[in-house]
Amino acid sequence: MQFDALILKVASRCNLNCSYCFMYNLGDTTYKGQPKFMSYDMIDSILEKTKKYILKYNKKEFSFIFHGGEPLLIDKDFYRTFIAKANKIQDELKDVVFKYDVQTNGVLIDKDWCALFRELQIYPSISVDGTKKAHDMFRVDHKGNGSYDNVFNAVKLLKNKIGYADTVCVINIKEEPLVIYESFKKMQVNSVNFLIPDFTHDNYPFDTEKTMMADWLVTLFDIWINDPDRYKIPMFIGLINSLLGVVAHDNNESTVLVIETNGEIEAIDSLKACGHGFTKSGMNVQSNDFSDIKKAPLGKLYFEDSTTKLCDKCLECPIKEVCKGGRLVHRFKKENGFNNPSVYCKDLIKFIAHIQNRLIILFPELYTKENVDPMKTDEITRYINDVHEKDLGNSIYAEELSYFGQN
Ligand code: SF4
Ligand code: SF4
Repeated sequence: MQFDALILKVASRCNLNCSYCFMYNLGDTTYKGQPKFMSYDMIDSILEKTKKYILKYNKKEFSFIFHGGEPLLIDKDFYRTFIAKANKIQDELKDVVFKYDVQTNGVLIDKDWCALFRELQIYPSISVDGTKKAHDMFRVDHKGNGSYDNVFNAVKLLKNKIGYADTVCVINIKEEPLVIYESFKKMQVNSVNFLIPDFTHDNYPFDTEKTMMADWLVTLFDIWINDPDRYKIPMFIGLINSLLGVVAHDNNESTVLVIETNGEIEAIDSLKACGHGFTKSGMNVQSNDFSDIKKAPLGKLYFEDSTTKLCDKCLECPIKEVCKGGRLVHRFKKENGFNNPSVYCKDLIKFIAHIQNRLIILFPELYTKENVDPMKTDEITRYINDVHEKDLGNSIYAEELSYFGQN
């Protein structure tokens, strides 16, 4: 496994205080010990290590994703300085393409920021949870006021000034899928990266016997696939490609390394939801190479083994090639670390089976040739439950995965 991108935490604080935020509100308070902003001194270390990494692995493309907290809290000159220095490295490396993205809550976006994005060719993506009702339920400022109106205007501004608007939406099943889908159409967005909320087995708020997330996703998928004027939904495209065997589905993880404001290198930040200091590796970009992260137990699991070292249930699962155990954070339980299937397991079975069965209807010739039968959700669930009854705790990886537990 190699990295294709760095998530650069240029600000460790935020002008919002979203209740589901893993940075601030899910039990990890290490942000308090971080410098509020990444210092200019850090830029040289990051780029020096990037250059070394690119040369070692002969990368042709590499992305820098500016992230936070809220990345637009840092001054614009930081971006100008970073990209001017990165351009020099790019010139030295000759045949490498650097790309720049910023993941923002959108509240501060104005004409000046749009001009900077154009000037530096930074591609922004805005977090917006669809409708005012869904968005303002969680995405509030420090006084508890919803941020939807500001963010809605920011999306419109991006469309006007830079010609496109990519968005990220944390799924809120309390709002109807059709209402959410239509709200993004009204915003004329180009893409919506829908994310399943980052719950672990310890704080999962839904009934595990029900499949409310799958039911929501199935409805959204059917709306989307039947819409000739659909916008891009990376989650659906990734699963379709995986089911058609076009590319491996990577759960959108494992190719991105996080660098904190003080230069600490970490596995993906969503794992902060597993507990205080959980992602800390003791490594820093000033003294370590990027690959060193794999010497830390969590770094090794996340970057090398997260789709192969699975619990017994997942190892026997007939759809593990597509599901891969779900996202790592969703497998976590304090009692036994990652030695669990995803907390969304039943949802994933139902949702993946639904897409597969829709594809069989859409591309019958492809599936007839391969002799593929429709998937039956109940059969898969029953099969996995039987395995679970027999082999509980006997996975060859059980000990290794349970190491991350905290009891
Ligand atoms: S905008 Fe992002 S970083 Fe800020 S509180 Fe919300 S989820 Fe957290
Ligand atoms: S569907 Fe469930 S058992 Fe199968 S791989 Fe995914 S999480 Fe594991």
